[in-house]
Amino acid sequence: MKFTDLGLNESLLKAIQEQGYSIPTPIQQQAIPQIIKGKDVLATAQTGTGKTAGFTLPLLQKLSQTEPKMQKKQIRVLVLTPTRELALQVAQSMQTYGKHMSYRSTVIFGGVGINPQLATIRKGIDIVIATPGRLLDIVSKEGIDFSNLETLILDEADRMLDMGFINDIKKLLHLMPKKKQTLLFSATFSKEIKKLASALLVNPVVIEVARENSATKQVNQVVHYVDKDRKRELLSQLIKTQKWEQVLVFVRTKHGANRLTKQLEEYGGIKAVAIHGNKSQGSRTKALKSFKEKEVQVLVATDIAARGIDIDKLPYVVNYELPNVPEDYVHRIGRTGRAGAEGKAISLVCIDEHPLLFEIEKFMKMKIPKVDIEAFRPDPTIKPEKIQKQRGSKVKSTHKKSKHKKQQSSQTKEQTKKPKNDTIAKAIGSRLQEKLDRLEKKQKSQNKRKK
Ligand code: AMP
Repeated sequence: MKFTDLGLNESLLKAIQEQGYSIPTPIQQQAIPQIIKGKDVLATAQTGTGKTAGFTLPLLQKLSQTEPKMQKKQIRVLVLTPTRELALQVAQSMQTYGKHMSYRSTVIFGGVGINPQLATIRKGIDIVIATPGRLLDIVSKEGIDFSNLETLILDEADRMLDMGFINDIKKLLHLMPKKKQTLLFSATFSKEIKKLASALLVNPVVIEVARENSATKQVNQVVHYVDKDRKRELLSQLIKTQKWEQVLVFVRTKHGANRLTKQLEEYGGIKAVAIHGNKSQGSRTKALKSFKEKEVQVLVATDIAARGIDIDKLPYVVNYELPNVPEDYVHRIGRTGRAGAEGKAISLVCIDEHPLLFEIEKFMKMKIPKVDIEAFRPDPTIKPEKIQKQRGSKVKSTHKKSKHKKQQSSQTKEQTKKPKNDTIAKAIGSRLQEKLDRLEKKQKSQNKRKK
């Protein structure tokens, strides 16, 4: 099948040709005609499969087919994404594929000033790409009107649920017209996603382009067992001896990302930069740019910051520390081996992480090959220790409720600024109320103790 068979206009075909794509990927072949027809779609597609173009191209096609009837603050298409990075990436794809068309789009996320975003939407805009938290802030300022919304896209929906955005999404859905086209993209197809899909989608076309919960096939995975305090040394050695020119390294915490970056530079003479949720949007964008342009060799990232990052032909991903949640492993290694390119994912696993590796292999339904490096063979006398719970990290726990709350609060911090006035407080009233209830409880118990 060729792109010319998919029902796309000349402007889009020209942009595709300029990108150098010759054949549509499987998700594009299946999704594009259905979306143009106006069908709801439920697509299980991993990152790296070309899913962004899979919904961006038909959306642009549809926009070009109808005359806008929007008024001020109204929008036609809304793409919701879990992170700023993914929002930016989708916006970039829109720009790339729509560069020979005329339409207006904007990207909305927290961590930057809200007023310019309000001003842009006020003028009336075709496409908004947004993270849920900031979009609710805009709603609370009566800055957006969904009454003419034609299409809603939930990108990486599984991740949005993981990050505790379900209530934000529900609040947004209440404001939207019932009659609209909805597209739901998710890397995994969990029970929660099925539930969300059945509530949201009407007679959806179901598209599945890869085996459930499996990683992209082009990723060559390997595990090296190594002691925790020798990981830095092993990583430096691998980078140098195997001449890795561009490697994305995942760690669990923001502090760990800063520390490793410093160590790689100080002890290994390796140019590295960190990307995590405590960095300003400006420095995150700068770090990513310098890595993409190969000015720095290593990008050290936490899961949240790395979500949605698309680096053309990235050859290596290193799990310096394994993630606490197996799905995150799939997402991490999905940064490499994208769109047909080959990639390698190397995990440095210490004795404390053996249970995490077990969970990952169970989830992936496969054993990851273990390659022994003699000089770094683990010391058999070292006993495993419990992995420290980190703020904001998703630690496997039997206390499901508290885990969810913790996640939600840390993610909210990463995505949006805190509510500042009454109007915002109203819109996110329940969250605020929860906080007030907790404070009140604390106060009461303190008073009791004093008595
Ligand atoms: P995604 O899964 O949307 O994150 O896309 C992964 C990568 O595949 C991006 O770098 C795209 O530019 C690239 N890509 C998308 N569609 C195609 C295609 N038909 N042929 C080659 N590369 C593509």
